[in-house]
Amino acid sequence: MLKELLETHHCFKLVCGAGNEDIEEIKRLVYVYAIAGCRLFDLSANSDVIDAAREALDLARVYDAYLCISVGIKNDPHVNKAVIDYERCVNCGLCEEICPQGAIHYAKVKKERCVGCGRCWRVCSRAAISYVAEEKNLDDVLPSIVDKGIDCIEFHAMGLDEDEIFKKWQYINDNYEGLLSICISRSNLGDEAFLSRIKRMIEQREPYSTIIQADGIPLSGGDDNYKSTLQAVATAEIVQNAKLPVYLILSGGTNAKTSELAKMCEISFNGIATGSYARKIVKKYIDKEDFWNNPQVLNEALNVAKPLVDSVIL
Ligand code: SF4
Ligand code: SF4
Repeated sequence: MLKELLETHHCFKLVCGAGNEDIEEIKRLVYVYAIAGCRLFDLSANSDVIDAAREALDLARVYDAYLCISVGIKNDPHVNKAVIDYERCVNCGLCEEICPQGAIHYAKVKKERCVGCGRCWRVCSRAAISYVAEEKNLDDVLPSIVDKGIDCIEFHAMGLDEDEIFKKWQYINDNYEGLLSICISRSNLGDEAFLSRIKRMIEQREPYSTIIQADGIPLSGGDDNYKSTLQAVATAEIVQNAKLPVYLILSGGTNAKTSELAKMCEISFNGIATGSYARKIVKKYIDKEDFWNNPQVLNEALNVAKPLVDSVIL
């Protein structure tokens, strides 16, 4: 049971990306991190993505892993997709250079790879990049995903539209009996509204049937230092101080220093979810053409992935 893994207080969760639907990348990411010791994988709400992750776990001969499916909503950066306005674009290539997902090629966005991180928007001096939210219709995706026997659904409770959030949250509660996770940051809310949203969301749930994924600065990971991970730890502390009957996972700027910093700050977390940083450190290996045929490539990927996973599970 996933609860047992959380109760060890050493759960490493690999975030493949709520908006990441690049099947081959997901298969390779799950394969590397499963062998490195990860046992919880966060995936987009997409049947093909779930199948790819399962295939990777079979290939890795890992049979005790759990799958969590992420559902984003309007204003959730995790499901934003970059769009380029060609009236403004001068094809300077800066966005392609900065994109951590390799989602831009000759000023064209490969939607399935884009995870909405915002880096391209920040470097574009022509204001040619904007975002559209690719939220999914829960009626369309949830039944088939639940049928696949997943272990957890994560709802991204970002944004300011409380009505939309609570309507969708209710729908998920009515249609799924398992463990739910709330991924939430305080960026748009402030501390009080952040906590009161969490309290309202867990009001009718059984104790310890909900994970709070305290998202420091969403999609901000990339560097392995204390500064990058500070907000994830600070956000987790707010949840911890509220003494709620929930499991606590840190995310949003997490890296190999997160576990150490959280322990220094006396945060009793159940797990750490890492996305941007985890994907970045293995990217050059999983992008190689001979990935599946060259054991050396896998070994090199494991040399960087394993210390990250070990920083949480050991
Ligand atoms: S950074 Fe802006 S101007 Fe440059 S290629 Fe990208 S979209 Fe075009
Ligand atoms: S930089 Fe981020 S937002 Fe832009 S295309 Fe790449 S993944 Fe998407």
